[in-house]
Amino acid sequence: MSAPSIDHYIAGQRLAGTSGRTQSVTNPATGAVTGQVPLASSAEVARAVAAAQAAFPAWADTPPLRRARVMFKFLELLNQHKDTLAHLITAEHGKVFTDAQGEVTRGIEIVEFATGIPQLLKGDYTEQVSTGIDNWTMRQPLGVVAGITPFNFPVMVPMWMFPVAIAAGNTFVLKPSPIDPSPSLFMADLLKQAGLPDGVFNVVQGDKEAVDALLVHPDVKAISFVGSTPIANYIYETGAHHGKRVQALGGAKNHMVVMPDADLDQVVDALIGSAYGSAGERCMAISVAVLVGEVADKVMPKLIERTRALKVLDGENLAAEMGPIVTEAARGRIRGYIDAGVAEGAKLLVDGRQFNGAQAGAGCDNGFWLGGTLFDHVGTDMKIYKEEIFGPVLSCVRVPDFAQAVQIINDHEFGNGVSCFTRDGNVAREFSRRIQVGMVGINVPIPVPMAWHGFGGWKRSLFGDMHAYGEEGVRFYTKQKSIMQRWPESIAKGAEFVMPTSK
Ligand code: NAD
Repeated sequence: MSAPSIDHYIAGQRLAGTSGRTQSVTNPATGAVTGQVPLASSAEVARAVAAAQAAFPAWADTPPLRRARVMFKFLELLNQHKDTLAHLITAEHGKVFTDAQGEVTRGIEIVEFATGIPQLLKGDYTEQVSTGIDNWTMRQPLGVVAGITPFNFPVMVPMWMFPVAIAAGNTFVLKPSPIDPSPSLFMADLLKQAGLPDGVFNVVQGDKEAVDALLVHPDVKAISFVGSTPIANYIYETGAHHGKRVQALGGAKNHMVVMPDADLDQVVDALIGSAYGSAGERCMAISVAVLVGEVADKVMPKLIERTRALKVLDGENLAAEMGPIVTEAARGRIRGYIDAGVAEGAKLLVDGRQFNGAQAGAGCDNGFWLGGTLFDHVGTDMKIYKEEIFGPVLSCVRVPDFAQAVQIINDHEFGNGVSCFTRDGNVAREFSRRIQVGMVGINVPIPVPMAWHGFGGWKRSLFGDMHAYGEEGVRFYTKQKSIMQRWPESIAKGAEFVMPTSK
């Protein structure tokens, strides 16, 4: 039996691809092909953009309160179906089911935020800026906006974008990762059931060809991108060149500084969970432990023991702590980094390359498996330190003091997330102030900001000016208009030739 086709979703309909190009979708735990996803041509992208463009005027004119009510209904449906969505994530991404549930919950929180859109769109008003004249600002939607999303959060990252964009009155074209495309269609169905008019939310499945078509389409007014840094950079430059507003979130290398006064049991729990959770395929995963002073010798035996004891199992097994790697290609890339770390002289303490699928459960022999990997004595000049591995590999770097810890982090090209474990309030304060990273955790390993705070890194982890979701998201998806008004009774006679000032 051939694997089922996973469609596009345009103008409220699921549509089979017509480009003739497809990509296999696999279950990473078993290696089985479970679907074929179409890869859109530019003509199919144009069709989705046309549907969104046609739906825009009426949707933009819909009172924000009514748009919010659609979001409330969507929220209700998401809560009813969240486990179905989580299973869809596990089936195509491989992350463990409980983690997939967490992903859906973090997405739902953005929908909760978006239900407040009437309040969020309120403008400013100044009465009497001059005699008889009032001035106010309001925010209006942009038009058709597009989201291009990575494989690692097929529900949460699209939900960083479309709930806010749609609630603000835009229409949306989502181009998900072709690696795990099914959740996007499930979300489209829920939006339709929630009463969203056809054409307001569309999905084009695809790869670079679809992305390039969105980047140059004149009716696409803004692009939100999340993915790796080289592609983020390309999206930012190309989108801006074509006159679009762009926010492009890129890759990461997140450090966790461990001060000698930190609670070591908490430190080990935090490092194990944040380095190996979701097999390290999180843009906020901790991939570098920066061990200050004598703390390294104390923490290392515990880290070795816990890394070896990780429960690496099929993600549907509720006992699983870590699932498979998303694709065979990704596993090959990560193994290559482990090889490079050994070749460059880092000390390999736990070698995930030894793990094989049979250990993960029945039927997993052909899945894309790798165990947790732990390196000590990693140098800042090594490839495994400088580059994003995006896998279950934790590199430990030893530094003599706090100043050196801050220095290496500030020197790194990425600046997405960072964490510091300490009991010293002054160290925590100095760290938060001096660190050149967008999202900081103090005794919190993965400080993903809540829905109303906005998400974004610094340096080469974000191209653009505004963070995702939160009030920054509302600003990104709207443009400000200023209106200055007076009424005939208050208009003084005679033309004015000098710059108007307050009178
Ligand atoms: P990716 O860059 O390979 O793909 C992201 C999106 O871009 C996908 O939709 C993909 O189809 C598309 N794409 C891929 N190659 C392209 C090309 N040459 N031209 C145009 N479009 C292209 O990323 P990924 O492997 O899916 O996701 C993992 C990466 O995403 C990691 O680097 C991770 O750090 C990053 N990420 C960042 C954040 C963040 O908030 N900063 C969040 C999640 C993931």
